[in-house]
Amino acid sequence: MLAGYGFEMNPSFPFDPDLHRPGSVAGRGGCSWHGAEGAAEPRCEGEPVVSFQDRSGDWQSGCQRALEELVDREEIQPLGQGA
Ligand SMILES: [Zn+2]
Repeated sequence: MLAGYGFEMNPSFPFDPDLHRPGSVAGRGGCSWHGAEGAAEPRCEGEPVVSFQDRSGDWQSGCQRALEELVDREEIQPLGQGA
């Protein structure tokens, strides 16, 4: 497991507000990926479709667009894979 410093894709899950902290963007049913501090886009109006852990291990929610971007960048696995 520790051989190399390879890149690992995080699993993705159907959006579940219970995975996120109450009161957080994701916990309120928003897209935290685009709404994160320091993000290029200050706000996202998309409905979250996916819950995943980012590289720091923090739970994030993502809209359809975020899901496609992240899968494209191989940061997370496509939704439903491995089920
Ligand atoms: Zn979004």
